[in-house]
Amino acid sequence: MRIGVLGAGQLGRMLALAGYPLAKDFVFYDMSGSPSAGLGETIVDRDGKYLDDFLSRVDRVTYEFEHLPVEVAEELAKHKPVHPCPRALQVCQNRVAEKTLFGQLGIPTPEWKVADSADSLKAAAEELGCPVVAKSITEGYDGKGQAVLKSPDQADDAWDMIGHPQVIVEKFVNFSREVSIIAVRAEDGDVAFYPIAENTHHEGILRYSIAPAPGLQAHVQKDAERYIKALLNELNYVGVLTLELFETPEGLVANEMAPRVHNSGHWSIEGAMTSQFENHIRAVSGHPLGSVEPRGLSCMINIIGEHGDIERILELPYAHVHLYNKGERAGRKLGHVNILADSYKELVWRVRTCAQFLPGCPEFKSSLTAKG
Ligand code: AMP
Repeated sequence: MRIGVLGAGQLGRMLALAGYPLAKDFVFYDMSGSPSAGLGETIVDRDGKYLDDFLSRVDRVTYEFEHLPVEVAEELAKHKPVHPCPRALQVCQNRVAEKTLFGQLGIPTPEWKVADSADSLKAAAEELGCPVVAKSITEGYDGKGQAVLKSPDQADDAWDMIGHPQVIVEKFVNFSREVSIIAVRAEDGDVAFYPIAENTHHEGILRYSIAPAPGLQAHVQKDAERYIKALLNELNYVGVLTLELFETPEGLVANEMAPRVHNSGHWSIEGAMTSQFENHIRAVSGHPLGSVEPRGLSCMINIIGEHGDIERILELPYAHVHLYNKGERAGRKLGHVNILADSYKELVWRVRTCAQFLPGCPEFKSSLTAKG
């Protein structure tokens, strides 16, 4: 079976790495002009001239990023199975559609309003009560196109800074930590849930993911599973879906979803019986799902900007290095290291040992380190 992947970055690369043992072949379709997957066949097509060619070479289509034109996915779906469905893309590309769907399915969100001018932003901030977060409705990711307003008087500056015709204004959530749940749904409707991961960001970029999230109460995992299952079934979804959430003392609050394998699930390559990548390939190909049981405790450390002393990390017996074949550049995701351990105490020690070989890696902060 030949799987066509829209996008040709590191997620596509890791999908292929997981798919080869199952005898899948891969064709990547790149619209950026700088593919980095480095595996399989790659069609570089900045002007959309070779979509027919791409289609003729593949049996099924999936994607590794959500900012591709929905019309392209819809057109492809007329000819070959496209998983996840184009509607999932449509929902993710618009924060209002996304939060509306969450609300319809009973998934808690921050209270929100829409603003289409500096004045209406100010009014929304007054009604919701500051602080609020204003975000462009489309084209936002990794905290870009966003502003936190500490008072309604900041509306003019925030509006100019974001520079979009419409923004969503959300009440600021006082979360205790950021978490995510990853689930996978097969063609026959079978669903499996990975344990929730705890995520630490620095300058808007994910740095560390710990799974299973330490100290998580069982009912919180169950709540997250209920929320993501509602989305999977509503969308008749096939493949891996990620739901990013805030944990608060009152329960989980949903932030956003990603219709794809996700950085906060990279720990699963060595840390789970079946990785998110293999399970996505299994689902997209119509196979049964693999076990999502964790093999122990994991922490994923992202390698951002510079590679650091990879040779030293390779000497650590508990570290698994994954490099994406990309050149160094500030803020760029170049790879990650998965650390496994049998106890959280051991995990913290191992993560700190590894992180010292990664220049620019922020100090390891998490619920595990907060207690001292
Ligand atoms: P997003 O692009 O929506 O994922 O937001 C990027 C980051 O901004 C999140 O990971 C949070 O750290 C923060 N953030 C977004 N929305 C809120 C909110 N309503 N309350 C508090 N923090 C937020």
